Amino acid sequence: MVKRKVLITGAGIGGLSTALRLAKRGYQVEIIEKNHQAGGRLNQLARDGFVFDTGPSFFSMSYVFKELADDCGIALPFQYNELNPLYAVNIRNNPKTYFLFKDIQKLAEQFSDKEPDFENKMRNYLKNCGLVFNETFDVVIRSNFDSVIQYFLSLMRVNPMLLPLLLRSFWKEVTRHFSSHEARQIISLVAFFLGRTPFDTMAVYTLLSHVEFCYDGYYNVSGGMYKIVEGLLNELIKENVVIHYNTEIIDYIEHNGKLKYLTDRSGKKWDADIFVVNADAAVFRGAVFRRPAFSEERMKRMHWTTGYLTFYVGVKCKLPQVHHHNYFLGANYREYAEKILTNPDLPEKPYYYVNVVSKYNQNCAPEGCESLFFVCPVPNLLYKKNWNDKENVVFSILDDFSQHINLNIRPFIASLTIYTPEDWQDMYNIYKGSCLGLSHNMWQIGAFRPKNFDEKFENVFYVGASTTPGTGIPMVIIGSKLVTDRIEKYSEP
Ligand SMILES: Cc1cc2nc3c(=O)[nH]c(=O)nc-3n(C[C@H](O)[C@H](O)[C@H](O)COP(=O)(O)OP(=O)(O)OC[C@H]3O[C@@H](n4cnc5c(N)ncnc54)[C@H](O)[C@@H]3O)c2cc1C
Repeated sequence: MVKRKVLITGAGIGGLSTALRLAKRGYQVEIIEKNHQAGGRLNQLARDGFVFDTGPSFFSMSYVFKELADDCGIALPFQYNELNPLYAVNIRNNPKTYFLFKDIQKLAEQFSDKEPDFENKMRNYLKNCGLVFNETFDVVIRSNFDSVIQYFLSLMRVNPMLLPLLLRSFWKEVTRHFSSHEARQIISLVAFFLGRTPFDTMAVYTLLSHVEFCYDGYYNVSGGMYKIVEGLLNELIKENVVIHYNTEIIDYIEHNGKLKYLTDRSGKKWDADIFVVNADAAVFRGAVFRRPAFSEERMKRMHWTTGYLTFYVGVKCKLPQVHHHNYFLGANYREYAEKILTNPDLPEKPYYYVNVVSKYNQNCAPEGCESLFFVCPVPNLLYKKNWNDKENVVFSILDDFSQHINLNIRPFIASLTIYTPEDWQDMYNIYKGSCLGLSHNMWQIGAFRPKNFDEKFENVFYVGASTTPGTGIPMVIIGSKLVTDRIEKYSEP
């Protein structure tokens, strides 16, 4: 039988995992990638003797990788390690560092002075979160929806007692369980992982607390997160999948209701029987297919996640006083959360995340040195358009960090690279540098999210953060299974 040819635009984690599933099913797969190396947001930067993971630094739901490996009949091509504690949290004006242990008793000991009966409250909160997870995960997240009606029919299978969680915020739900500021902030922090804030994220996403503490926890990868990409690339080579780098798709040619060719910047036409788009599902529909529903005006009105200011610092010293994954919060949680979404004037003292990559991956820094990765959520380019002040912001964070760790790290800096939302936008065609893509409000999930099949061309499908089921590595891997199912159905004789 002649193998059907699939052309995938984008070598992000969505493109690579879909390519592997399809190649293993006998499709002839080629990938086109705008950049000089694969991985998309899950990427790597080597500079001045240091190596940094540029995007994700850990992932949850490790079982989706096991499922991917089983589906493809391979051994997982990288090794991951559970994080325990999950992360450390520091709050300004509070000398204590909180460690998020999965052992709830151990976690509770740290709140004994702030939150009476924390352990019971936490167990009760997590029971509810587990219920949400069990009721919704397979029905909503692991399913393909052909129409809004089918989506609503699926939602009707969900326990109606959970309905208020669609209307309540994450923060509101957390405040129903905890009374201290410390517990509320620390437990609701996970909402930021979805690229918004606990105040505008629906309470159904408290299921993430279940994922963090009860279900699977968090993992990083031996040798760095980029080993995921390298592992998948090795498997793709075995399947003769070719990747064309430095090639950006900008136009298309249709024929008889199907997509015939994609055209790259040099004018070269790329043909296939089936096309998979791993570039952002909303951006591609607007910029390449020029669909009115994704015009600039309509895109602006959609809800996007925050931008990220990320920077990668190599220091010529060891930092034994710093943990592996660390959050540094201020003393004005709500005010800060409101500002970082839309206020172009960044707060003087931003909140930020620091990963000391070299704690677990010693090869990424020269001897006696550390590799640090900073992420600071900032307004995306819809709200903060000018990043001429990037160095001021970066050095104010570095100074704040220095204060926290009792060491001025400025004199030890051997390497510094900064990515603003403008850089993220330009590197990966991410809308306005909104680093996690479309947000997950009620009208942008399930059947309301840009679909993983095209509205017009029956031979075009989508995978990645801005299509179903959503953003983050595990969601995108689940998305690669959903889109593969669609392609298999489409290809049935
Ligand atoms: C700083 C940061 C930290 C993060 N941290 C975490 C984390 O800790 N854990 C986690 O699970 N997730 C995290 N995420 C989110 C995660 O990285 C993404 O959800 C995921 O990697 C998205 O994968 P993707 O395949 O959908 O898209 P992408 O990675 O964006 O891949 C799309 C690819 O398409 C290419 N492309 C775009 N347009 C074109 C075109 N026209 N022609 C050719 N190629 C094109 C791009 O260059 C890119 O390589 C983080 C993201 C960022 C930015």
